[in-house]
Amino acid sequence: MDLRSLIRDVPDFPKPGIVFKDITTLTKDPDGFRAAVDEIAARYADANVDLIVGIESRGFVFGAAVAYKMGLGFVPARKPGKLPGPTVSAEYELEYGTDALEIHQDAIGEGQRVLIVDDLLATGGTAAATAKLVSGLGGEIIAIAFLIDLAFLGGRDKLAGYEVFSLIEYDSE
Ligand code: AMP
Repeated sequence: MDLRSLIRDVPDFPKPGIVFKDITTLTKDPDGFRAAVDEIAARYADANVDLIVGIESRGFVFGAAVAYKMGLGFVPARKPGKLPGPTVSAEYELEYGTDALEIHQDAIGEGQRVLIVDDLLATGGTAAATAKLVSGLGGEIIAIAFLIDLAFLGGRDKLAGYEVFSLIEYDSE
């Protein structure tokens, strides 16, 4: 299945100079969506994963489907102020300023084996912040899985020490 052909490039979104990788053209395709989810689930089928953590918001789309496919629970890493219970929080750098992600304090148990899922790896800050939260709660990170790796941005460097898996790699814009 050629998943790459289902990703749409949208130039200059959300601002000039950015080529946005639109995954909605993949998710609306039943065979493409299923193939992407199945491929991630198959890769970690024998890894004794306990829990899927998905990153807001497109990581929810793939993470929840992977969790369902693997018969596992799903935990969201959310933007600040969205989760109702007590949370832990990690800040990360954006091009201009900082943002943060939160996870419920009781969402991950000591020693639980976690697969983190997001749609796209760019500079790696988002996934690194999520990994920090998961580790801080005692979770063991089995891998961080993405649909897309914008490899030319070097995001994997920020995730050194973790297994990083992606279905589609771009070596240039
Ligand atoms: P980063 O923290 O730089 O790795 O950014 C990753 C997050 O930003 C992911 O959750 C993506 O959904 C989003 N993102 C960054 N760059 C792009 C892009 N070119 N196209 C689509 N989404 C992007």
